[in-house]
This record gives sequence, structure tokens and C-alpha cells, in this order.
Amino acid sequence: MAKKVLVLAESRDGALRNVSFEAIAAAKEISGGGEVFAVLCGDSVQSLANELIHYGADRVLTAENEKLANYTTDGYYQALKQIIDEEKPEAIVFGHTSLGKDLSPRLAARLESGLISDVTGLEQAGENTVFTRPVYSGKAFEKKLINDGLIFVTIRPNNIAPLEKDESRSGEVKSVSIEIKNLRTIVKEVVRKASTGVDLSEAKIIVAGGRGVKSEDGFKPLQELADVLGAAVGASRGACDADYCDYSLQIGQTGKVVTPDLYIACGISGAIQHLAGMSNSKVIVAINKDPEASIFSVADYGIVGDLFEVVPLLTEEFKKV
Ligand code: FAD
Repeated sequence: MAKKVLVLAESRDGALRNVSFEAIAAAKEISGGGEVFAVLCGDSVQSLANELIHYGADRVLTAENEKLANYTTDGYYQALKQIIDEEKPEAIVFGHTSLGKDLSPRLAARLESGLISDVTGLEQAGENTVFTRPVYSGKAFEKKLINDGLIFVTIRPNNIAPLEKDESRSGEVKSVSIEIKNLRTIVKEVVRKASTGVDLSEAKIIVAGGRGVKSEDGFKPLQELADVLGAAVGASRGACDADYCDYSLQIGQTGKVVTPDLYIACGISGAIQHLAGMSNSKVIVAINKDPEASIFSVADYGIVGDLFEVVPLLTEEFKKV
């Protein structure tokens, strides 16, 4: 049976996040030929709506309210709850992002529905979609389905290909008025760290450093390589604990989970907790002085050597391409 599916689209710095397009592709599968509509919340998001239609949404609802300018759990909860009550979707898809991870379980619990989180793949089995998700820190995968009631799903960025962008696609964009009352959390100020502009969770290429970089300055050659490749810089917890970089760069079980096309691990030993966050990357290159380092067990290409020699050489070679 065809389903009506809601996608919560996310934007950052005035642009839609790629995971929103991936969520639309997932929603299309789940809908089985039914309707996919996207919801955009914020204080000024109207101009982004058409791009969601170009990526496959049948229509878009924009919920604009100054109280939604910055994400808060109760503000977005109230907005989504009003739209769900009105539209009665049968499935709701979020990105497995900080926002999606925070909001989806709360909504699902309050609506007494099931949630399948961190989905990396989906397939249709009769009327129901079967979702694949990693368990035991990525050592195994389980397949799950919910065959009754409203389904909540979060999808891991970079795993489900978005549909081809088609600018000739058209669809309805409607502004809905949302009442937000008694906010328990109010964001007074957002202080951003300096960043290279490439979002770590959605990056197609990541250059990551571990304790082997030895200092904050040791990250500079990695940043240079990342700049040439248009990559994001990440880190092991070892590097974060040693104060070589900020914890926002940490990848792993207690950091970010990433699935780039290319992951270059520099001076990272490959502890199980680090592998939990990156072992599903499509191609892994490891640079380590120790030929016995565990990172080589998951690497597609291994370079045994000093990262301070190898990384600048790679940067020079990639500059020529
Ligand atoms: P090390 O293990 O010290 O490895 C450094 C590597 O650099 C070595 O292999 C060495 O051979 C190599 N090296 C040194 N110098 C050079 C050089 N010049 N050139 C090339 N190679 C060189 N870790 C995470 O990363 N993410 C997590 O989310 C995470 N969560 C955790 C949660 C828990 C509950 C626990 C207990 C641990 C967690 N850890 C996590 C920590 C994890 O167990 C490891 O301690 C950590 O990943 C080690 O970081 P590292 O590989 O950078 O350092």
C-alpha cells in the first residue's frame, strides 16, 4: 500500500544539507509510490523550498517562525507535532544528524511509535520497507521492519544516494502558520568555531589525524592536504584528548560516525572505538609508522611510513591533478 511520507529537511548557513536530499530518496522508497512531502522549519527558509522539489519532494511545507530560527527540541517538537496532526503521515524520515538524533526519539516516544535509527540501506519487501542498520559498533548489521503504525526513521549521511536533481520538476510550496508557546529552552547566541567549511558528517573525503600527529601544529600538513582535496579534517579521540584539536573533530564510537568515499587516517592506531566511526568508509587509506597497527586491517591501501613525510608528498601529487 502506498504511504504518505514526511521528510524533515535541514538547512545550515542558508543552504540545504545534503542529507535532506538523501532522506527524500529514502522516503520515495518507503512511500512505495505514495506521496513524499518535505517540511522546512526556520525563520527564513522559503527560498530553499524549490530545491527540495528538484530532488524529488512532491510538495514542501515551510514552517517559518522567529522562535524556530535556531534549533530547540521543544520548538521543533511543537512545529512537527502540529504538522503531523494535520497531515497524518505514515512514515517520517530524518537525517541521522545531531538534530535528527535529538528530535526523532522524542517525537516517536510521545506519539507512541517505533523508531529505526541510523539506517544505512533499505529494500522493499511487499508492503513494508526493510531497513538495514549497524549494530555492535558497526561489527554487524541488522535488518528491521515496523509493520504497524507510524514509522520514524533516521538515515546515516552519505549512505543512500539522492535522486538526480531535476530543475524542471514542480510542486506545491505552502507556508504553514505554527504556534510556538512556552519554550523551555531559548538560544541566546550561537558561537561558531572556525571551520574549513566542509561538514565532517557529510564530507565525501576526510583526512583524519591521531596521536601520531604529535601536536596541534602537526595537524597543519593534514589541513593542507584536506584543502587540496576539498576534504574535511577529522581526528581520533587520542588526538582530541592530547589537546591537539577540538572534540568536535572526533570520529568514533563516542564521536561522529562518518561514511565518506575516501578516509585518510594519519597516525591513528585503529582502536575498535575509532573503527566504529569510520570502518564503513568506501575507501580507507592508512598512513602509520607501525606495520602492525590495527588500522591496516580495515585499510584498502596502507602506507607504512612517517606521516610528516608521506602527507606533504600526497599534497604535492594531488596539486598536480
Ligand atoms: P594511538 O593509539 O596512540 O596511536 C597513534 C598511532 O600513531 C600509532 O599507531 C603510531 O604507530 C602512529 N604514529 C606515531 N607517529 C607517527 C608518525 N610520525 N607517522 C605515522 N604514524 C605515526 N577513540 C576514538 O578515536 N574515537 C572514539 O569515539 C573513541 N571512543 C572511546 C570510547 C571509550 C568508552 C573508550 C574506552 C575509548 C574510546 N576511544 C575512542 C579511544 C580509543 O580506545 C583509543 O585510545 C584512541 O582511538 C587512540 O587514538 P590514536 O589512534 O590517535 O592514538
